[in-house]
Amino acid sequence: MLKKIFIATQNPKKLQELTQILGNSVELLSFLDIPVKDVEETELTLEGNAILKARSYFEQVKIPCIADDTGLEVEILNGEPGVFSARYAGYPSNSQKNIEKLIFKLQEKKAFAIEQRKAQFRTIIAFFDGKNIYTFEGVIKGFISLEPKGNYGLGYDPIFVPEGYSQTFAEMEPHQKNKISHRGLALQKLKNFLTLHS
Ligand code: IMP
Repeated sequence: MLKKIFIATQNPKKLQELTQILGNSVELLSFLDIPVKDVEETELTLEGNAILKARSYFEQVKIPCIADDTGLEVEILNGEPGVFSARYAGYPSNSQKNIEKLIFKLQEKKAFAIEQRKAQFRTIIAFFDGKNIYTFEGVIKGFISLEPKGNYGLGYDPIFVPEGYSQTFAEMEPHQKNKISHRGLALQKLKNFLTLHS
């Protein structure tokens, strides 16, 4: 029988990405199967938030939980927006406004050359089985495009161009993005772990 795991996200797009990547290796349950209360991300690091969410959702659903936190880290902005990526332009979280603020900040810095717009997406996935916490990291380097492009994906995808590519994440088909993305890499590590421990 497949291991039941709860995915601690309320975001349907992210749920879709996670389901695509973890595929048939486990039986995934989500807020669509078990109603849960949202958990606020109150920690100051991606690791802290991912662990907090995995533990807090476990308390609610009582089955092993995976939770993730992702940040876009822009070099010239000293790692901003980082752990504050979702609420960069304030509440309620709005991707369009976050993108506008980031582009504005880069223009303010006169970061017009590509080398001045280096960035990376970093994801931490935490898995809590009720006893132990395990974390998995995925990083993808790239640069910020000052012009948003593409309609796929989520969040900052229209302005992130991965290293070695000329398209933004939002211009890539989901399966193409999942193969190289921060979350895809972290999930692959989690998948290997789950395969070894099932
Ligand atoms: P969360 O940790 O997944 O809630 O993400 C924090 C912020 O980063 C949100 O604003 C998301 O929209 C954004 N984000 C997370 N994952 C991605 C991604 O794969 N592409 C672009 N933005 C993302």
